[in-house]
Amino acid sequence: KVMLEVSDLQAKVADTDKAILKGVNLTICEGESHAIMGQNGSGKSTLSRVLVGDPQYEVTGGSARFQGQDLFDLEPEERARLGLFLSFQSPIAIPGVSNIDFLRLAYNSRQKALGKPEVEPLQFYGHVMPKLDTLHIDPSWLDRSVNEGFSGGERKRNEVLQLAVLEADLAILDEIDSGLDIDALRDVATAVNGLKRGNTATLMVTHYKRLLNYIHPTHVHVMRAGQIILSGGIEVADVLENEGYEGITNLLKKEP
Ligand code: ADP
Ligand code: MG
Ligand code: MG
Repeated sequence: KVMLEVSDLQAKVADTDKAILKGVNLTICEGESHAIMGQNGSGKSTLSRVLVGDPQYEVTGGSARFQGQDLFDLEPEERARLGLFLSFQSPIAIPGVSNIDFLRLAYNSRQKALGKPEVEPLQFYGHVMPKLDTLHIDPSWLDRSVNEGFSGGERKRNEVLQLAVLEADLAILDEIDSGLDIDALRDVATAVNGLKRGNTATLMVTHYKRLLNYIHPTHVHVMRAGQIILSGGIEVADVLENEGYEGITNLLKKEP
């Protein structure tokens, strides 16, 4: 079942003439996990942000449907209500606010948007505990201040925990692997894998194949100059890893 369908999407920086997305096509179905790779400045983060409705950008052409609705007719909160979330690229530390309180705040704001009652702290424990388990996160984290004294890997896992608590249907993860050593990377990947449920999907932006060794995407796309220039399976990431972007260019030349 199609979850997200993006056709010929074009976008620019708001209040400027700077075009960034120049005709992006992308279809994501339930149960799939997609990776977008591409050099710095190719428009990966812009695509992620345009999808969630970041006001920095203005859609200038094309369309996007999410869960059967015109995405660009929806306010950012309505997109979140439908289950579309982007992880925060640089999560901030909030001294004095415990992780569990922060998560419950975020959860309750979604509950409110859904017209559901807010949950009490005890009830929220019941919601969050099984998620810690699937993500392999130690429960002692809940009582720590948000991101304070967290290592890079812990912060990233916390981002994944947020997506799990909010029950994202389509979770967009922008460079969740940046700056991590191999052990932290494996832990983050385990957490991302724990997000998967039958009817959910993920869209991961990454520079590196090494994340994909743990996450096994069903689809890999290469973005360049505001377009997805090549889509395929994990073999696309292998070409990138072994031959770089030149390898991708050669592959495109060979195609009829
Ligand atoms: P990526 O995530 O692939 O590295 P980005 O989407 O962040 O690429 O950026 C694509 C291009 O658009 C870059 O040249 C970047 O400098 C530019 N860009 C992105 N956002 C803005 C903005 N808010 N204002 C000006 N230029 C921007
Ligand atoms: Mg970048
Ligand atoms: Mg980026």
